[in-house]
Amino acid sequence: MLVVMKHTAGPEDVDRVVDTIRAMGYDARPIPGHQRTAVGLIGNDGRVDSARLEGLPGVLEVIAVTKPYKQVSREWRSEDTVITLANGTAIGGNRVAIMAGPCAVESEGQILDIAHQVRDMGATILRGGAFKPRTSPYAFSGLGVKGLELLARAREATGLAIITEALDPESVEPVAEIADIIQIGARNMQNYTLLRRAGQSGKPVMLKRGMSATITEWLLAAEYLLAEGNDNVMLCERGVRSFDNQTRNLLDLTAIPVIQGLSHLPVVADPSHGTGVRSKVIPMARASVAAGADALMVEVHPDPALALSDGAQSLYPEQFGEMMEQVGAIARIIGRDLSVPLPAGV
Ligand code: PEP
Ligand code: MN
Repeated sequence: MLVVMKHTAGPEDVDRVVDTIRAMGYDARPIPGHQRTAVGLIGNDGRVDSARLEGLPGVLEVIAVTKPYKQVSREWRSEDTVITLANGTAIGGNRVAIMAGPCAVESEGQILDIAHQVRDMGATILRGGAFKPRTSPYAFSGLGVKGLELLARAREATGLAIITEALDPESVEPVAEIADIIQIGARNMQNYTLLRRAGQSGKPVMLKRGMSATITEWLLAAEYLLAEGNDNVMLCERGVRSFDNQTRNLLDLTAIPVIQGLSHLPVVADPSHGTGVRSKVIPMARASVAAGADALMVEVHPDPALALSDGAQSLYPEQFGEMMEQVGAIARIIGRDLSVPLPAGV
């Protein structure tokens, strides 16, 4: 339930609404905005007496949030959420942010090399898994804490922000210590203990769509993060299971505008996992930006043939450069642009 305030309402009116909601036994969350200020009532069990709130000074109206996900919905917050990272990259505004890097951190040389290359081509966020979820227990599962240290070194050397995955509740803390964004992987979309822990970390979180998850299930999973008081959440479409095996997954491009209609959270597209096939990554990156994605996550490796994971879908650095030119042109056609590049030569 949402208590929408009049334009003329003052801070004391908002405080009175908050106090009244708390006195009724519910949690209250003020939602300031450019267009309107509202106060969200959290935990509505259907027994809220809305008349009590409607009668308070400064209240315009009390509206029910009809969606099962509440704080994630556009009903709750009509303005787009914009998440700003320490290096100045904004996700969710007018500029399309680019996250690029290898599937996994493999060595200091590998991560520093690719970090410099993608930074010089306009990426502002470095991806790289230190804790890797692998389909086979015998596959390379990442360098762990050592990988996190190498990512921190790459940030220091390049100015790139870091996104890396927390695989389980225990890894949230070490990941949160170094990452600018915590990634929750597709296989963990409904790991509710992990979601709660990531929500409590205070760090921005990117929640990937489970490979068989409906959009409603995905948004409800995101609600777990916001329910912990973390508003800096972005959603990542990374492809769903399909009946066809020409590609690894089916990148659901429609999910981008669908999510933007249902939610105020930024949407990231991952054409690397979304296709699993190198030659299909650039076309789907172009399509994702055309469809309105707020950011792209793309796997790039200095030498994909030697990659310890996901080499077949990793771009060569020069292909990444080509992609950047093309998605930049598409962004500008639709009135956007790519994030402001970081200064080179750091
Ligand atoms: C990844 O980003 O490398 C990854 C494992 O992604 P997903 O969870 O989408 O499979
Ligand atoms: Mn990968």
